Amino acid sequence: MNAQTSAQAFDIRRVRADFPLLARTVHGKPLVYFDNANTSQKPLAVIEAVDRHYREHNANVSRAVHLLGEEATTAYEGARDTLARFIHAPSRDELVLTSGTTQAANLVAYSFVLPRLKPGDAILTTTMEHHANIVPWQIVAARAGATVKAAPIDERGELIVEKFIELLTPEVKLACVTHVSNVLGTVNPVRELAKACRERGIPLFVDGSQAMPHRPVDVQALGCDFYALTGHKMLAPTGTGALWAKKEHLEAMPPFFGGGEMIREVKFSGTTFAAPPHRFEAGTPNIAGFAGVAAAIAYYDALGFDAVRAHERALLDHATAQLREVPGLRLFGEANDKEPVISFLVEGAQATDLATLLDLEGVAVRSGHHCAHPLMQFYGVPATLRASLAFYNTHEEVDAFVAALLKVRRLLR
Ligand code: PLP
Repeated sequence: MNAQTSAQAFDIRRVRADFPLLARTVHGKPLVYFDNANTSQKPLAVIEAVDRHYREHNANVSRAVHLLGEEATTAYEGARDTLARFIHAPSRDELVLTSGTTQAANLVAYSFVLPRLKPGDAILTTTMEHHANIVPWQIVAARAGATVKAAPIDERGELIVEKFIELLTPEVKLACVTHVSNVLGTVNPVRELAKACRERGIPLFVDGSQAMPHRPVDVQALGCDFYALTGHKMLAPTGTGALWAKKEHLEAMPPFFGGGEMIREVKFSGTTFAAPPHRFEAGTPNIAGFAGVAAAIAYYDALGFDAVRAHERALLDHATAQLREVPGLRLFGEANDKEPVISFLVEGAQATDLATLLDLEGVAVRSGHHCAHPLMQFYGVPATLRASLAFYNTHEEVDAFVAALLKVRRLLR
């Protein structure tokens, strides 16, 4: 389907009717929710899947032989199957279910990298990363006497790929990159980076948090070693996510959390551990949340990424064109390949003041450093405003947002 036909096939009114929260008002104004990179809203199918789980199937997983226990286990393990298929993982056993990307990165930091690090080693990340793709590496690097290096970006917010590759020196034990920047929307050339990493025998960790809501992801085609994702940005409940890792890595990784569910046999003389992925899933997981993950993926499947992408592309172009007309507005992130995330500042106005006034107009945008201090340092600003769009947003909402921005900007002068 070409972009135009898929855009026509996309019935925005029907889509919006699936998201009950979008119908509410804020401060007496219709809500314009443009904080989707922070967390997405949830369709009824997801809300009902969670509700149904607690009403009809609630029990713990992998422990009970009774029917409810079996149903809960089927829901949880079914979500693993669904996620594995969604990201084209070679095997469901390569998918560790987590509370989100942060837990996935910490698992890789403690269980994969830390045992491999020695003094003088390094972990390579980039200037545009979320703190979740910086701080876990710093913590384990400090323990081992290693360092964290950052590959530079240019003014447009694109990774300088040659520099990233130049920095892949023998002491680098892990390279890390975000698939899509949460501040700039930049899409990084993961395949190319993964190829360069493979040629040097350096494993690549990809933060997929901001890519998953917008584009189909195929971990085998990307060629990376680890891919982390978070459910709540892709229509699913908070506290859900996953780490996909190549089997050989998971098999070599010691457990990170200890407790129930992750053992084979426990004796005071020594404990043996379950095979991956259960080795990394100690304790009771977010079972209802993962019932919601399966429903979220079914929703994306029904909608189709062609339609999602065409609509989001049109929204991004429309919003960017209008914002360029706002006097004194500075855009951050003008990469050739970008997802619908727009960071900006308006001359003479603090980001937080603007966001507070926009909220009074019903427009929810984020202001602040977006958990990306190094990126703010690169641009020499303490904060930006960020309007992040989703497929359920409309052109009319973009117009309302720009009108509200022009209005509140006048108030601040
Ligand atoms: N990475 C990126 C790029 C993000 O945008 C976020 C969330 O804002 C995270 C990681 C952390 O995700 P979570 O808090 O769901 O673990």
